[in-house]
Amino acid sequence: MRSCVSLSLSAVLVCASVADAQRLEALRPETLKYVRVGTPNVILEHVQVIDGTGVAPVADQNVYLSGGKITTISAGADVAASKATTILDLRGYTVAPGIVGMHNHLFYIALPNLDADWNFDNPLAIPQMTFSAPRLYLANGVTTMRTTGSVETYTDLELKRAIEAGTLPGPHLDVTGPYLQGPNDIFIQMHTLTGPEDARQTVDYWADRGVTSFKAYMHITRDELRAAVRAAHKRGLKITGHLCSITYEEAAEIGIDDLEHGFFVNTELDPDKKADTCSDSQGDYTLEHMSPGSAEANKLIATLVSHHVAITSTLPVFEAGVPDRPPLRVAAMQALSDAAREAYLYRRSRPVGKPSHRDAAALLRRDMDLERAFVAAGGLLLAGPDPTGNGGVIPGFGDQRGIELLVEAGFTPVEAIRIATLNGAIYLGRQDQIGSIATGKNADLMVIKGDPATTIADIENVEIVFKDGVGYDSSKLNGSVRGRYGEY
Ligand SMILES: [Zn+2]
Repeated sequence: MRSCVSLSLSAVLVCASVADAQRLEALRPETLKYVRVGTPNVILEHVQVIDGTGVAPVADQNVYLSGGKITTISAGADVAASKATTILDLRGYTVAPGIVGMHNHLFYIALPNLDADWNFDNPLAIPQMTFSAPRLYLANGVTTMRTTGSVETYTDLELKRAIEAGTLPGPHLDVTGPYLQGPNDIFIQMHTLTGPEDARQTVDYWADRGVTSFKAYMHITRDELRAAVRAAHKRGLKITGHLCSITYEEAAEIGIDDLEHGFFVNTELDPDKKADTCSDSQGDYTLEHMSPGSAEANKLIATLVSHHVAITSTLPVFEAGVPDRPPLRVAAMQALSDAAREAYLYRRSRPVGKPSHRDAAALLRRDMDLERAFVAAGGLLLAGPDPTGNGGVIPGFGDQRGIELLVEAGFTPVEAIRIATLNGAIYLGRQDQIGSIATGKNADLMVIKGDPATTIADIENVEIVFKDGVGYDSSKLNGSVRGRYGEY
């Protein structure tokens, strides 16, 4: 039995089986208007495939999508048109898996009354980007992401439900609970844990409400982290950390699953480091004094690998603090609100670093080298841009920039794409469904004009993003948030 639905704005008449029609009809108007390819069957014809596993690309393939899955991958051929099937001639294009973004926020950090000398008033405000962020992620190739610390956790959970229901456009979400944080004077919207029992209760409360991961933050104590790890693991959930009060080795011994920000925030060599207390340089000193191949670096990496602790590379947020780096691309600038654009331009004209004012360019290079050493030793490296308003790191665009920076770090383009796709899926335990282009997997993939395997900047040319077999129009989604990122 077949039925037909007309997709508004796409001018495609879709004739589908009842099951397919139900899948498409589940998309509500606010999602449907960004759909470019809505037929149940899709053939991506004569396309180069970068499959996400890190192997060399394969030229001239036909990739068949049906019922939301990748059903066949075969040699490129001209296929006759048929009912309920969209055929895209993709000569000159590449398909790669949808990005699995592992440090991807749904908020912005606003600096009240920021001036051109980078003075601002306290407290910092953290407005939700519930409107703009999911669209920017999906538009630019992110089909699954971890929120990596939430501020309005209920909002993020409702957003996840709305996306899964087809009411709003956006990627699949791994919603992370509220930051597990000790006393701090920066983020008034974060709860201060009162001890290990509070950490346990917080994990239990939010896990009961649908949160699927947790994040420890800079001032947590070892006892609190231990309690949170135990509570999360009891439910089969993972916990990551942007740490300072706890060193990477301490966290690995406690049982953390992932550490954010590459090797930037390990504090073990910081001269003023005291137990359970964040150090003054917040890890800059340690990074500066830990060269790849040194005894300290080898010991740390061996500990992380043997404890199966992943590392999340967040190169874009650190690039933003380095002078004389490339400017934001035009499409990314256009997404910014007036205030966010002003903050970005102030930051570029007067770059500032952490309080220590160490050589930001040298630290970025050092971190890149340690990330490569970690992978060479068998470590699982993940990627995410950390879009927090820190100098124009933007959802989606930042994920693409992160892949480019992994190539600058020394990974090959296909290795960098693997870090941003399959590695995230492996960490999430979802590698059987997502993270690579393979028969039977979910049809989550990005259609890219050009060849990022030879010219990594082509990763910016994402035109269509398929999520569960539905193709979303990147420029329409980007266009819908013009001037809004930083506002809502
Ligand atoms: Zn972050």
